[in-house]
Amino acid sequence: MRFKNKVVVVTGAGSGIGRAIALAFAKEGASVVIASHHSDGKKVEQEIVKAGGKALFVQADVSGSASVRSMVDGVIKKFKRVDFLVNNAGILLHGDAVSTSEADWNRVLDVNLKGMFLCAKYVVPCMKSGAIVNISSEWGLSGGRDVLAYCASKGGVVNLTRAMALDYARKGIRVNAVCPGLINTKMLTGFFSKKELREIGQMVPMRRIGEPEEIARVILFLCSDDASYVTGAVLSVDGGDMAGTY
Ligand code: NAP
Repeated sequence: MRFKNKVVVVTGAGSGIGRAIALAFAKEGASVVIASHHSDGKKVEQEIVKAGGKALFVQADVSGSASVRSMVDGVIKKFKRVDFLVNNAGILLHGDAVSTSEADWNRVLDVNLKGMFLCAKYVVPCMKSGAIVNISSEWGLSGGRDVLAYCASKGGVVNLTRAMALDYARKGIRVNAVCPGLINTKMLTGFFSKKELREIGQMVPMRRIGEPEEIARVILFLCSDDASYVTGAVLSVDGGDMAGTY
């Protein structure tokens, strides 16, 4: 039980990678705040409580300052503290510079980048020490075709992470980023058929796409004392995708 008596806030925890992170923290004894927008956050809360863990579902839109503030108020009311923040909520919209509408650009940047800023803005004052993990992407480290706003937002997350690591190092809060490769969640399955996903998986050096639990385990490591000297790091978890050309 690495996280007994600790409280973690996981955004976008109603599905995919966020859900896997929430379940993994609960298994390790943490009280888990499932901050979710439309997805089944309540179901994840029930799943954790049924297994004997502690969880709180809070409906929140990370792109809205009032919504984030009220989420943090709810967390403090219930658990009195926050030890870890996992900024995981994100959206992917397609388009290049010409085809991306201004509204889509704003939406992607608001959720993927401003959302992390807002969550940190209201959560950090509640933290005595601990860790923050921001979920970027391999498209935060290299470009992707027809995903312009997403690439811009995830590139921003990488340097937001480094700046936050410097700002909070002396407060004892470590801040790191994880850059997942292709992970088996509705973000991918919404765009590709099973056959296409198998074919895409074959292009990864490890010849498969990843599972949400493989990201969750790395995030728990980054929040644990095993990573006590790790801050400002940007860690690829992508089956070798970013290792080079092959
Ligand atoms: P997902 O299942 O679609 O999860 C994204 C989560 O973010 C959803 O639960 C979604 O909730 C939530 N969300 C979206 N807008 C929100 C908002 N305004 N406020 C609060 N929550 C919001 O996809 P995923 O793959 O697990 O994505 C998790 C993170 O990993 C994202 O940041 C994504 O960019 C990143 N990532 C994923 C991959 C991949 O291959 N899957 C690769 C690299 C990076 P609702 O459904 O309720 O809106």
